[in-house]
Amino acid sequence: MEFTTFVRTESKSRPAVYWSVKHGILLYMELFKELDLADNLQRAVEACGFEKPTPIQRESIPAILAGKDILASAQTGTGKTASFVLPAMQKMLLVPRHGGNGPRVLILTPTRELAAQVNAHIRDLGQFCKFTNGSVIGGMAYPPQIRLLQKKLDILVATPGRLMDHMEKGRVNYSSLDIFVLDEADRMLDLGFIGDIRNIASKLPKKRQTLLFSATLEGKVLTIAHDLLKDPVTIQLTSNTVKHELIRQKVYHADNLIHKHRLLDSCLKRDELTQALVFTATKRTADRLASMLSAQGHDSAPLHGDLSQGARKKTMNRMKQGKLRILVATDVAARGLDIKGISHVINFDLPNVAEDYIHRIGRTGRAGENGTAISLVSPEDWGKLREIERLTGMLVERSVVLGLEPEKASPEFQPQKARSSAFPRFGRRKRRFGSRLRR
Ligand code: AMP
Repeated sequence: MEFTTFVRTESKSRPAVYWSVKHGILLYMELFKELDLADNLQRAVEACGFEKPTPIQRESIPAILAGKDILASAQTGTGKTASFVLPAMQKMLLVPRHGGNGPRVLILTPTRELAAQVNAHIRDLGQFCKFTNGSVIGGMAYPPQIRLLQKKLDILVATPGRLMDHMEKGRVNYSSLDIFVLDEADRMLDLGFIGDIRNIASKLPKKRQTLLFSATLEGKVLTIAHDLLKDPVTIQLTSNTVKHELIRQKVYHADNLIHKHRLLDSCLKRDELTQALVFTATKRTADRLASMLSAQGHDSAPLHGDLSQGARKKTMNRMKQGKLRILVATDVAARGLDIKGISHVINFDLPNVAEDYIHRIGRTGRAGENGTAISLVSPEDWGKLREIERLTGMLVERSVVLGLEPEKASPEFQPQKARSSAFPRFGRRKRRFGSRLRR
């Protein structure tokens, strides 16, 4: 089997298009079949129910197969995992292993949850092949990971901290490494992993392919991309102001914490709510709120970084199987989480970083379903709400729950009029929520 040749055309008005060259004829890549994937991968794609490549897959798969480094902005939910897993597998099937034991493909992820999801994709897409894969993540026992690292591994998924632990003990052999993937690089940098990433990269073979995926392409991400990638193909599919069109976003103003709790209780009792992800600012609030909700008769559990990996996994599995209705989580769940049954995301606390709002609400409205994102906003959160609306350029619909209307007047804000140097002032007229508000 040989590599298919791809030709990339690009113009100012049109994004890059890949054409596969077959028998001297240019074919526009529309279906997976046109990628000439190995039969076992094509079967797996079909078994997963994927008909057409998503935009990120259409852009990145041919470029990766052609041996290019990639700098891609794509969020979770766009099919980005398969966009690097499939071509990496295809390349491993075509090119025999060289070097010693250790991984041929290393995928770094910011969180254990994302690592677990990437591994699940690897299992699905590699179901008809014989790849060896596994993960090296924090919160898990060391001995099985040590045994894994001694194997002829095909794909290793790792979080940077634990991988560094093993590297410092001389347990990781990179002599076979061909592909290095940084998944959700912006998140890894936010979490302070820049030193670990540089350290890991410095130990990898110079002759390798590096693929960097990030929700945004700016700041530190561009610096690290500049240092680690060689002449990359840049793929920009999302922007900061990505609009979640299938997600209905609402704000309920709350006078105080007690009011917030009542609003939350009322939202959680709605029939149309199948499963909800409730975000809190701190781990303690997540614990307390989950216990409080359970005491009120809501089926809920907390998820945050202080829980053991086993407990987190168990909770996630219950959520995925639809056995848990309400997950109360910190931002550990803001990205990467892909649970189709989540009909509602509720911000009990708004995030400190406006961009995290976009990631949080993206946990609903997945796989073509409609979703609802509700933010419970008390007066101390008004500033955060303004920042979110400035970032998205959208005014989130203000709404009220009948019988639970706020007493306090809330500020008015027109994000379109925002100037970059300063926040707009609150409106002077004090207006109570009234008839213009929909429920
Ligand atoms: P990801 O962005 O990698 O987290 O993927 C989000 C979801 O999209 C996962 O449930 C994937 O199984 C699914 N997916 C990935 N590629 C495709 C495709 N080409 N067609 C349909 N669904 C896909």
